[in-house]
Amino acid sequence: MKVMAAVKRVVDYNVKVRVKADQSGVETSNVKMSMNPFDEIAVEAATRLKEAGHAREVIAVTCGPAQTTETLRTALAIGADRGVLIQTDAELQPLAVAKLLKAAVEREQPRLVILGKQAIDDDAGQTGQLLAALLDWPQATFASHIEMGADTATVTREVDGGLEVIQVVLPAIVTTDLRLNEPRYVTLPNIMKAKKKPIDTLSPADLGVDPSPRLKTLKVAEPAARKAGVRVSDVAGLVDKLKNEAKVI
Ligand code: AMP
Repeated sequence: MKVMAAVKRVVDYNVKVRVKADQSGVETSNVKMSMNPFDEIAVEAATRLKEAGHAREVIAVTCGPAQTTETLRTALAIGADRGVLIQTDAELQPLAVAKLLKAAVEREQPRLVILGKQAIDDDAGQTGQLLAALLDWPQATFASHIEMGADTATVTREVDGGLEVIQVVLPAIVTTDLRLNEPRYVTLPNIMKAKKKPIDTLSPADLGVDPSPRLKTLKVAEPAARKAGVRVSDVAGLVDKLKNEAKVI
């Protein structure tokens, strides 16, 4: 079977994000960009399924501007066999991405699509769920373990207060949580090999999708600076402050 992994190019998680002076968004020019960490986990999971003989081919798909090819190359270096770039300079919101991925799924016919549970830039946590709804496929979100059967995937989900194990019938959508795996270190030979792997480029129009945003960002602002804390000398002092200053007890 084919497995598809969705990968997004985001501001690197080590970068301190800065808000643009006009408050229209966050600064992305001259900023290090990388693959969304949960998507690295998705590509690693797909690659392991191939290595274990459950998958025949791993396809990495990304939607975004031309530079997003770099992200696909990283996915190919981790272990994906080929990439699909759905190229657009439009601002992409989760619904538009889900529509584009749905069209890619219809072309490629994977039995399993693995996405990150959330992109660390918009923190939307919506795309996998929207894609499952649009395709009318079952979904297993926040996966920390995947066990493949002939026509099913048994997925351990990280839920509030513990773990939940569910079985979904393929084709299905899985979104990755942090503990699913530790993505492998990308080696230089694999980066070199990845350069020879094929990448198809499509446009939203090729897929018959209008990716125009449905939501308008009114303003992006820094969170208010936290006030400095104080050290209390004893428990009685702490209780007094909680009672009389914070008024929380
Ligand atoms: P979000 O719903 O934006 O938090 O994103 C959840 C997941 O959807 C990400 O971890 C990716 O796997 C996938 N995704 C979001 N945006 C894109 C994109 N532009 N291209 C490919 N995959 C994406």
